[in-house]
Amino acid sequence: MSAAFSFQLDATDGAARTGVISTPRGEIRTPAFMPVGTAATVKAMMPESVRATGADILLGNTYHLMLRPTAERIDRLGGLHRFMNWERPILTDSGGFQVMSLAELRKLTEEGVTFKSHIDGSRHTLTPERSMEIQRLLGSDIVMCFDECPALPADEKRVAESMRLSMRWAARSKEAFGDRPGHALFGIQQGGVTQELRAESAEKLREIGFDGYAIGGLAVGEGQEAMFGVLDYATDMLPQDRPRYLMGVGKPDDIVGAVARGVDMMDCVLPSRSGRTGQAFTRHGVVNIKNARHADDPRPLDESCTCPACRNYSRAYLHHVFRAQEIISSMLLTWHNLHYFQEIMAGMRAAIAEGRFAAWQAEFHAGRAEGDIPPL
Ligand SMILES: [Zn+2]
Repeated sequence: MSAAFSFQLDATDGAARTGVISTPRGEIRTPAFMPVGTAATVKAMMPESVRATGADILLGNTYHLMLRPTAERIDRLGGLHRFMNWERPILTDSGGFQVMSLAELRKLTEEGVTFKSHIDGSRHTLTPERSMEIQRLLGSDIVMCFDECPALPADEKRVAESMRLSMRWAARSKEAFGDRPGHALFGIQQGGVTQELRAESAEKLREIGFDGYAIGGLAVGEGQEAMFGVLDYATDMLPQDRPRYLMGVGKPDDIVGAVARGVDMMDCVLPSRSGRTGQAFTRHGVVNIKNARHADDPRPLDESCTCPACRNYSRAYLHHVFRAQEIISSMLLTWHNLHYFQEIMAGMRAAIAEGRFAAWQAEFHAGRAEGDIPPL
């Protein structure tokens, strides 16, 4: 087991890249999709099952864990890996995004953010220093800088001020993170959909120097076209020899488009959340299992899928347990969705390595357009 954190780029095909991030807790094959384990669990999944889908790394949420059960308690119990029974790498976000989207009565200053918990109304403060401390207590392998996420819609002046504050916080995050061999700190590029602001942010982050670079402030409702428009230039602004992480993305075609533009890592609640609301992602598009037309259908969700839901259960059964609100419905559909997302990642990694990514993309899009399961 190597003690260092490193990134090795193995092949590129156009702007798309494939490689390996090495950490003391294991390797992360890139492009990588990270399932989200918000409250120290990927909902409806055992950690062993998440691993069986092909996931190399999970994401945990600082905001949720600091409120319940608290970072200090998790630390006393041996850290997040032992607490949730996931021994492989974990990336934790900084809490900045959830403070913006979930917390009440948030008050923003140069120092940080004070807010009231959405769970019990208790008062908390997050600063770059406190976020680094929490992520250290959790034992996170990849730590994210504490950043500010402006509420949308925001005008360019507000986006610029917010980005500059986030860059000052990035410098404080780096200082507070210190020297921790085997653990990585990622900076987060901000700047909305304005190229000059993205460039200014990237320059500042490169000056401070990070183990990896995230692209933040996207996938917040701007739409796929605007997001791809930013990615067309944003990835080039970041160092070639460090992993690039697009936060909070996305649907399968968002993921494929992001990889085509040079992104190495992504996370999203979509496969697990959709699994609980009866939506299955397949090669042929989205299947809404609650639809009555599945009630008598003996076929699996996807004939070619090797996940347990597709190997052992019919659409009729999945339809029944969803309608009956049985827990197994969330379990099976989440498993299928996570499996499918990891299949996409594996397919892209192989295609990039073999220099046939454009053909893979064409096949991916064609399958969805002409499939035997029309989207509903
Ligand atoms: Zn399946």
